[in-house]
Amino acid sequence: MSNLTSLTLADALRGLREKRFSSEEITQAHLQAIEAARGLNAFVLETPDHALAMARASDVRLARGEGSVLEGAPIGVKDLFCTNGVRSTAGSKILGEFRPPYESTVTANLWRDGAVMLGKLNMDEFAMGSSNETSAFGPVINPWKSRGSNQSLTPGGSSGGSAAAVAADLVLGATATDTGGSIRQPASLTGTVGVKPTYGRCSRWGVVAFASSLDQAGPIAKTVEDAAILLRSMSGHDPKDSTSLPTDVPDFPNFVGRSVKGLRIGVPKEYRSDGMPPEIEALWAKGVEWLKDAGCDIVDVSLPHTKYALPAYYIIAPAEASSNLARYDGMRYGIRGEGANLTDVYEATRAEGFGDEVKRRILIGTYVLSAGYYDAYYLKALKVRRRIADDFTVAFERVDALLTPTAPSAAFALGDKSADPIAMYLNDIFTVTVNLAGLPGMSVPGALDATGLPLGLQVIARPLDEGTMFSVAGALEKAAGFGAKAERWW
Ligand code: GLN
Repeated sequence: MSNLTSLTLADALRGLREKRFSSEEITQAHLQAIEAARGLNAFVLETPDHALAMARASDVRLARGEGSVLEGAPIGVKDLFCTNGVRSTAGSKILGEFRPPYESTVTANLWRDGAVMLGKLNMDEFAMGSSNETSAFGPVINPWKSRGSNQSLTPGGSSGGSAAAVAADLVLGATATDTGGSIRQPASLTGTVGVKPTYGRCSRWGVVAFASSLDQAGPIAKTVEDAAILLRSMSGHDPKDSTSLPTDVPDFPNFVGRSVKGLRIGVPKEYRSDGMPPEIEALWAKGVEWLKDAGCDIVDVSLPHTKYALPAYYIIAPAEASSNLARYDGMRYGIRGEGANLTDVYEATRAEGFGDEVKRRILIGTYVLSAGYYDAYYLKALKVRRRIADDFTVAFERVDALLTPTAPSAAFALGDKSADPIAMYLNDIFTVTVNLAGLPGMSVPGALDATGLPLGLQVIARPLDEGTMFSVAGALEKAAGFGAKAERWW
């Protein structure tokens, strides 16, 4: 039944509707694939009983001809999303065996539309990282390997489990989150499609908070169309999130395959980073050619404050994180350390529960928010953020979308950058700007590098214009003809 796992989400939905196979069958096939792929460490919790119960309920609805838009399709959920009665860890030890008594809005929307939950996916602790190595559950292994090498590579992060599971055909699609690149960078490193929608498009309710002004949920999928199908279900106004936008959800899949003729595509010169591998430069140039061939007008644009984005992000994100993570005190949920008094208990709980990267962020965040440093760091970073957003506003007066590389490198070896936080943070150089400005951005696989590893292209669009972004991404996908899959070794 392995052919059922190699289907795209769109094809699987068609097959389910036409009753060529049941939801139980396709769910079983994925559960078997997951079991056989434990070496990837993509899941922190498999939920087969849950999955089969949901699948059978879907089959009943499908038999009555009642199914909704995702009816019977098995997917995975990043463990940052709270799932009712199902352990949700955020990749951290500190939450222990926490079982939320509620469901995140995004996952609730997916279940409302008939999707089936296969389990919870591994991730960097509290979504802080670019390689999945900060997870309390150990790193995820990228299904891709360099040609002729047996070295374990990272799938990227923080949504490494989501990306690896999609790339290895363990799920038809997955939820993920992106605060500074955590959907797009792992998508780029695994040959999958990852979408970070406009800030406010998907509700943050029930998603464990990292940096609330930057966090957005989105899908990782096998194709642009699949990503559009998933995002349509995940999106929508939610009164439970005050930053959720009260706008209608366009029919995203409808935009995939539309002509891009006459669209103006901006190429920002500041995204030509020093030391960028020539192959990434070449893929970017190819992307420009593909869009030109599809009838787009290519326009050189400037985003002059780009070079300040990474430093601003690494002040704002830790500042918000230090505040958001104050709630993990061992009192209401998660683990509790031993101590003689309340302060000792807090200290013991946080010392035991948080990993090193999370502690680093809390220290940085607390420092930049402290009296005396607040103006010099945090306020300054907020001003930079405004400049970056203004750069995009100016560029979008002249263009309809931007094209850039997604990440400055292909997948790297586990351990390669974990000792050097700055080297790790540099992974986010092309992605953080989009979060700072609240824009939609997505990664589409473009080509394999000389060693056979996938590389992604990023499309950025105006706020709430995911439609145009999907059209451009669809054109790139078509031109790239990227059909490669990781060779199975697991
Ligand atoms: N790599 C970035 C960080 O560690 C982004 C993480 C994310 O998008 N969640 O902050």
